[in-house]
Amino acid sequence: MIHRFCLVALVLVLAGLASYAQVNSPSRPLTLLSSQGRQVLPTTLINGQEFVSLNNLAKLFAITVREDSLAGGITVSYQGNTILLSVEQPLASVNGRLVTLPAPLTHLENQAFVPIEFLSRALATVYDSKIELRTTSRLLLLGQVNVPRLTVTLQEQDSFTGLILELTPSISVSATTDASTITLTVEADGIDAELPMVGEGLVETLGLGNQPNTIVIDLQSVAGLPTTNITDGALSTLVTINVPLANASSTPSITPEQISQEPITPPSTSPISITSRAVLQTIVLDPGHGGEDIGAMGTRGTLEKQITLDIARRLKAMVESRLGIRVLLTRNEDRNVNLDERAAMANHSKADLFLSIHANASLSPELAGAEIFYLAIDREVEEARKTAVALSTSLPVVGGGSRSIDIIGWDMAQASHVENSAVLAGILETSLQGQIPLQPSAVKQAPLRVLVGANMPAVLIEIGYLTNPTQEELVSSSGFQASVTQALFSSILRFRQFLEDNQ
Ligand SMILES: [Zn+2]
Repeated sequence: MIHRFCLVALVLVLAGLASYAQVNSPSRPLTLLSSQGRQVLPTTLINGQEFVSLNNLAKLFAITVREDSLAGGITVSYQGNTILLSVEQPLASVNGRLVTLPAPLTHLENQAFVPIEFLSRALATVYDSKIELRTTSRLLLLGQVNVPRLTVTLQEQDSFTGLILELTPSISVSATTDASTITLTVEADGIDAELPMVGEGLVETLGLGNQPNTIVIDLQSVAGLPTTNITDGALSTLVTINVPLANASSTPSITPEQISQEPITPPSTSPISITSRAVLQTIVLDPGHGGEDIGAMGTRGTLEKQITLDIARRLKAMVESRLGIRVLLTRNEDRNVNLDERAAMANHSKADLFLSIHANASLSPELAGAEIFYLAIDREVEEARKTAVALSTSLPVVGGGSRSIDIIGWDMAQASHVENSAVLAGILETSLQGQIPLQPSAVKQAPLRVLVGANMPAVLIEIGYLTNPTQEELVSSSGFQASVTQALFSSILRFRQFLEDNQ
């Protein structure tokens, strides 16, 4: 059960727009990867921001681009969807819904250019195939293509060095060794990594081979034949390469066989050149209700407040032990916490994600299935906020000068995160599909009080209906709770990936 309330619209003052001298240069092109193969998409750096030409996008994505000379903007049409772009504001209106871009539409030598984020933030939301921008590897993925992410770490032992390559999600890999060169062939369309890498000491180079799905590792100072061990985990595949070092003592205390049979700990030491930036350090889980507020109750007496706490505890244990992310609960006992306090706790702990967990109730006992909510915001508030952000929230004051003001009230903190919250909600839906029963359109927007003050991506999940006897039995079962926990865990991983790609 959730509490709803309405937001009060804010009216904001507009200030003039700053104009910049254009400085532009070509930048590394993107590679569009689809089931049709690979195509190059040139990019241009304008004022330090990466742009793509709309003409190029029109060809690659079958979109129609029309100049609106009156308004000075551009209309992009795709299968009945309309995206409006403005030269004045870093915004796109996608079927009337506003999304932010890092820069406005820009003209250069009679051609219109948009920031590359137009692809992931605007076009992707209406396109009939999945569009994913992977900026690290300069890949633009279209449709169902299989491109695992590669991270590389070094683990120093006494006389051996272990090179660990982690491919996420898990995937079939084969390895061949030729003297000091190891070639890995991955059953994928490409590999998401910033390659080539040049290592120190052990690894001379690590780069893509002559196929986009091969990785070639050239080793140096090798005293003996390296051993390669491939382990398939639930979430990723680990390739561990143990290399005897040239300057090691002649009687190593550990043999390569023993090393490769040891359980592999998640690689966390000595990254060569790719470091996973900690975009997700703290998560706040919010078990709904508590204490006198029991929430929903099933006919057999199942209490929402207990189910939500059980799942939150399971998820906390899983995320902390497997991902090393700090997880805080808004309550870890049977007590009520006021709704505003829940988001405030997340804000004070500088959480990067807020997940409120509930179970639903309805007067119709047949209602069933999980739902995922993120905040609905009044259109006026949203537009005012976006404009304020675009104008860098610095307003002129009487008598000259300007002052920076906190235009967005604390209670509106969620407004700046609604887009990422929507992404998170979509990821949750995908992860839950096939795991637990979902409502037909499971992702919904609502003005939820518990989310509005959260200054980070925030969603609320209703895991099922306790008022439906079948659902009540299901939701109370340990198997169901394990499935939900696993799906929420996968969502957190995917969302972290999304944040890293869109950093
Ligand atoms: Zn509830």
